[in-house]
Amino acid sequence: MKKEILNEAKIQFLSISVNEAFARSAAAAFASQCDPTVQEISEIKTAVSEAVTNAIVHGYRNTLGMVELTLRIYKNDVIYISVKDKGSGIENIEQAMTPLFTTAAEEERSGLGFSVMDSFMDRLKVKSSVGKGTTVTMEKKLSRRVK
Ligand code: ATP
Ligand code: MG
Repeated sequence: MKKEILNEAKIQFLSISVNEAFARSAAAAFASQCDPTVQEISEIKTAVSEAVTNAIVHGYRNTLGMVELTLRIYKNDVIYISVKDKGSGIENIEQAMTPLFTTAAEEERSGLGFSVMDSFMDRLKVKSSVGKGTTVTMEKKLSRRVK
């Protein structure tokens, strides 16, 4: 059965690092209509930030491209977030999602972005195709009822 969508927003922005903060704030502003707890808001912001940073630093790596952020609220008190890039793609998704795995150790990346998204959100799915791009989808069940 398809989940009923109560609200949806889509934002597209260029892959430059100032937009990490923009995306994080936009997600928080959208989620605020569900009366989330302070902790839920902070977890959503952190997860969005990790996904958007990955699109910018790994997906587009020194090139400019568009990142698409989709935000949804489902009727069952779930917030849905997807972050999509048309960048390099990921060769081995399972390996990429392993804690501490990074392809950018020399840039002082710690390989914990996916682990953070996984622990702060209830569902995390990564779809990727080399040369075509990556879509990260996350869902979080909120503790208060969505009106
Ligand atoms: P950290 O997030 O701790 O700064 P990191 O970004 O390397 O380090 P993860 O966010 O867990 O760690 O990502 C793991 C690896 O997955 C990255 O090093 C990169 O190789 C790959 N990856 C993640 N997102 C993308 C993406 N959007 N496009 C291409 N590769 C990606
Ligand atoms: Mg990362």
